[in-house]
Amino acid sequence: MRIQEKYLKQARRIHQESPVVDAHFDLAAEVCERCLTGEQGVVERRYLPYFEKAGLNIVVSSIFINNRDLPELGLRKALGQITALKEDVEPVNDRICVTASRAELDENLAAGRISILLSMEGLDPLGNDLSLLRTFYNLGVRGAGLTWSRRNAFATGCCTAGQFREIPGGLTELGKEAVRKMERLGMWLDVSHLSNDGFRDVCDLTEQPFMASHSDAWAVNENYRNLIDAQIREIAGRGGVIGLNACGYLTGIMPETTTPAEQEADAALLRLCEHAEHLIRIAGPAHVGYGFDLCKGLEDATPRIRFETENYDVLAHHGEMVKLTALLLQRGMDTEAVKGVVGGNFLRYYRRILK
Ligand SMILES: [Zn+2]
Repeated sequence: MRIQEKYLKQARRIHQESPVVDAHFDLAAEVCERCLTGEQGVVERRYLPYFEKAGLNIVVSSIFINNRDLPELGLRKALGQITALKEDVEPVNDRICVTASRAELDENLAAGRISILLSMEGLDPLGNDLSLLRTFYNLGVRGAGLTWSRRNAFATGCCTAGQFREIPGGLTELGKEAVRKMERLGMWLDVSHLSNDGFRDVCDLTEQPFMASHSDAWAVNENYRNLIDAQIREIAGRGGVIGLNACGYLTGIMPETTTPAEQEADAALLRLCEHAEHLIRIAGPAHVGYGFDLCKGLEDATPRIRFETENYDVLAHHGEMVKLTALLLQRGMDTEAVKGVVGGNFLRYYRRILK
């Protein structure tokens, strides 16, 4: 599969001239782990060149806590991740900074500065104490999923991407209260990792549009981390956005090694396009974006964690976003639709939710 030069050129232009967003990246957890070993300037050295190459305007960093750190270390780790990320980018705040308001977001866009938005991948650091949600809000957190793929005081998660089973259980009373509180504060609700029962509860409860920051389509790859068509329609119908996930488990193509042969890498990229195209077919072009969930960096930074098997990121780094955008264009996606997917749709959503 050859991506033609004219589409690469068009994609590069879109990435430089239109908003570009990655709605899910485990950046804070990685920075925190690396800082513990004495590394400095993690974002500047490891990521900023790729971010700038991709013309990235907004990256959402998750606050993600491993099972092994719960429950006792959840709060400490979450605070540590936020602190580490802010300190790490401080020397380069003229190029990238943690952002928490609509005005600041617009200012950064105008100045060509990258905004990092913070979102909790599970409210586990709160324990059972919902009052701490405002504490995290005050630290700049503007989005959250109730739970990662596990059960906590707020909700039941779906199974992890490497498993295949439906897990029953939805939102707890505390979880419902958390959703209402998030809406009052001006935080977005992320349903990636939520169980199907939980998704239904959210639909019954929410008044604001909610989103799935990093989930693909069940119709293309049957995986409980992915969204069925009815869920895709619900999110879109309420004004939310779905972020396309580039994790091999979710796309459904997991090469034997993390450095596959060219043909295998091409097949994986094609599959990612098929997910994007299906999501757009069901949701419409205004409700799909990028939420790549690139995991390699965090996996490399935390060698002690045993993942089921090593994950495969379809895009090796953010510099490769342009390749995907070019392929979407080459496969016939309308230019305006592509601009929305690349970032316009998530930008519109964040502007709507942020105060
Ligand atoms: Zn995730």
